[in-house]
Amino acid sequence: MARAATAHSPASEPLPAFASRLLAWHAKHGRHDLPWQQPRDPYRVWLSEIMLQQTQVATVTGYFLRFVDALPTLPALARAPADQVMALWSGLGYYSRARNLQRAARLCVEHHGGELPADLDALMALPGIGRSTAGAILSQAFGLRAPILDGNVKRVLCRSHGIDGFPGQRAIELHLWWLADALLPPSQLADYTQAIMDLGATVCTRARPECGNCPLRDDCVALATGRVAELPTPRPRRTLPQRSAAWLVAVHDSRRVLLHRRPSPGIWGGLWSLPEFPDESSLRGDRALGTTFPPPALVPMPAVRHVFTHYALTAQPFRLDIGEDQVHVFAPGPGVAEQDGCRWHPLDELASIGIPQPVRRLLTGLRLRED
Ligand code: SF4
Repeated sequence: MARAATAHSPASEPLPAFASRLLAWHAKHGRHDLPWQQPRDPYRVWLSEIMLQQTQVATVTGYFLRFVDALPTLPALARAPADQVMALWSGLGYYSRARNLQRAARLCVEHHGGELPADLDALMALPGIGRSTAGAILSQAFGLRAPILDGNVKRVLCRSHGIDGFPGQRAIELHLWWLADALLPPSQLADYTQAIMDLGATVCTRARPECGNCPLRDDCVALATGRVAELPTPRPRRTLPQRSAAWLVAVHDSRRVLLHRRPSPGIWGGLWSLPEFPDESSLRGDRALGTTFPPPALVPMPAVRHVFTHYALTAQPFRLDIGEDQVHVFAPGPGVAEQDGCRWHPLDELASIGIPQPVRRLLTGLRLRED
């Protein structure tokens, strides 16, 4: 399997039919005004690729513009406080992406003169950059010959070439990488990469693909064999494990809430969240709580459900209103901003720190009721 990214050949070399149809379609119908295309520098391409993993373009656009406005260069990202990065990412989910982004930026400053390296292996050695992201950076920002294989591209290739089998399976994935590499044109790599991604996002969509408007329709195996709806082969079914937890919503003087920084690595690692307990009885049995507050002081709130990639969480929040004389029960003490990973945080300053989206929604609802 070819892995090396190579500089493109002269533009005079003829384009293979697959690439030439895609490029002609892209010139007319592709997306040319995405914010990371103007300018299309390595940092912006990288940031957009990471944000676009698991998230739609329409959602990413606003986040991307705010992010590059606050941190316009890779060295600026490397220098930024982790809390600022998490706050800019807050709401996009999959927070390990933001942590890896900053770790990678710091490694680039340390080892690559503050820039992303134009080399496949060096890029893939950075946290959070897999082969497809590296391929997108190399082809789009450096014009090098490197394939990509994100979800959209997998769908286009599986359908156009009639490839059976779940693309997450190693053997199928290797075959798709080989095909993605073999189909690369000798030139116009940046446009070709954008074209195949755009086709998957706007024409060869998961539901209701517009085959009538597709530049690949004349040779599409799935269309010719009536298997468009069957391909790509879906992931074999599995039931998602269910987990539950109890959250403490300790509100001081209706103005501040007790937050706890989640350990990293881990789910929502590095974000500020509500103190979490395995269940209601361990929350009620907590030593500090149990000796100071009678059981009725903990008031159940509507449960929060959130589906992660590997499990579904149902969290039962319990509100606890506490006055001035009881605030010492919880860390931190008077005059201390943060202790044991806990802090009292003003309800009207939630935007300044990274908070998981379901927790942010719950706290915003709390604040609105109290305004
Ligand atoms: S013809 Fe239809 S199924 Fe085939 S690649 Fe185009 S949009 Fe996808």
